[in-house]
Amino acid sequence: MLQETEFIRILRKNQHKITPQRLGLIRYVCSNPGHFTAEEAYRNLKKSEPTITLATVYNILKIFTKAGILNTFESNGSRWFETNSALHVNFICENCGSIEDYEASDITPILKKIKESGGTFVSGTILVRGYCRNCAKAIERDH
Ligand SMILES: [Zn+2]
Ligand SMILES: [Zn+2]
Repeated sequence: MLQETEFIRILRKNQHKITPQRLGLIRYVCSNPGHFTAEEAYRNLKKSEPTITLATVYNILKIFTKAGILNTFESNGSRWFETNSALHVNFICENCGSIEDYEASDITPILKKIKESGGTFVSGTILVRGYCRNCAKAIERDH
């Protein structure tokens, strides 16, 4: 898998060892391209790595986020992670909690400004709240 190899390469470049637990988490995030919480990753990883703890999963997620292979954001009291580390819009449904990605090509000028200031961009997200198409339809029906 291309993404898996790429993540391993990035971690090695950042002087991180590829332990079985870290590899397990890499495989999980590669097979789960959407948005997930540490608890979800933990429940899934426990099947193949029974000795893993939630604290370890948090730790690994922190390493992955710092290395730029995961993006993280907070919504409704939960911390979310995703492999889409490009700057994009996360559209969060206030009713069912679904999260959808939208490309944000219009914010390229912001990245350019960061670069011009001498800074570097790692990952980030813009949160937009509303109702997804299903919930919007259901709400319309109820009125
Ligand atoms: Zn919804
Ligand atoms: Zn996203």
